[in-house]
Amino acid sequence: MNEKMLAVQINSFGGPEVLKIEYIPIPKVGPKDILLKISACGIDRKDLLIRNGTIRKKSAGYRSSASQIRNEIEFPLVLGAEIAGVIAEIGSEISGFKVGDRVASLPRRGHCGQCLYCHTGRSESCTKSWFIGQDSNGGYAEYTLVGADSLCLVPEKVDLIHASLSAACIGTMIRAIRDVGAVQIGESVLITGASGGLGAHGIALAKLSGAFVIAIASSELKADFLRSLGADEVIVANRREDWSSKVLHLTNGRGVDVGIDIVGASNFKFVLKSMALYGRIACVGEIEGGSVDFMPAIILLKRLKVLGSYAPGIEHMSKALDLLEKKNIHPIIDSILELSKASDAHLRMETKSDIKGRIVLCP
Ligand SMILES: [Zn+2]
Repeated sequence: MNEKMLAVQINSFGGPEVLKIEYIPIPKVGPKDILLKISACGIDRKDLLIRNGTIRKKSAGYRSSASQIRNEIEFPLVLGAEIAGVIAEIGSEISGFKVGDRVASLPRRGHCGQCLYCHTGRSESCTKSWFIGQDSNGGYAEYTLVGADSLCLVPEKVDLIHASLSAACIGTMIRAIRDVGAVQIGESVLITGASGGLGAHGIALAKLSGAFVIAIASSELKADFLRSLGADEVIVANRREDWSSKVLHLTNGRGVDVGIDIVGASNFKFVLKSMALYGRIACVGEIEGGSVDFMPAIILLKRLKVLGSYAPGIEHMSKALDLLEKKNIHPIIDSILELSKASDAHLRMETKSDIKGRIVLCP
């Protein structure tokens, strides 16, 4: 095997221009590592937050390791956590996978298998696990290291580019819609930030669950796209425009049963105002950060549940791959780009509002 590979690295926090394509050594495989030849890596908005310095710390799991005493993200770093590929080499302690297996990876690895969360099917909260593309090098490269605890075999019928969406993109929304939002047949579901990778797949999954779906879009062009995905109603509104009265109008004044919020602080009050009695809000994303002032009495009077929905676990990724294999849902991909275009992709995600689905890098 060649000892060097192409990778997109950052050497400092900054704008899209800090993403540099370089030849770097192929990572050495430790006893618990699996070396993956990457077929595809989706670009998550979180990658932008790491690159621009909004996220500066390593995750708690990585910091808790005795050999790692530095809390700050270290450079150079290869971003990217939505990875699928083919196993190129396996560590001496790995069992259950072999060279040549087609696999998709969760964004986290290093799950201990022994803590309260690992034992109760919530391994994404394992305090020993860490983020690929944040704590260790990720998927904007030809190869990266992953862990056996984080992999699912990809069914033969599923393209590896599509499989790269199975965890962080589709799996995240399976958790939000099925588990956290607990969407029931015939309920109404509101999805904010609906045209990105999470929202677009959220519409598909909410329809698959038998819901009436209202999506929020920032332009007419996107509205057509969201209708084509199955949204029953689309409200076109600017980021800070209060669209809640339109949601109430579309639901005969009652409001929605489930709010899937991918935008966060800048529209949280509108989500609250759009909810029906006994509604559930699943908080999935936060684009800008910041705080919100609202009356907690609204939660009391509407008997709401406001719930955090986090990264996917292995079951969510497995379910996503199953849905892709059966063509119950179709991957929604904006564009497929070479590694050298990573910087252009970040710039577009930051400055343009015309993205429809996921942007995927293919080495
Ligand atoms: Zn654990």
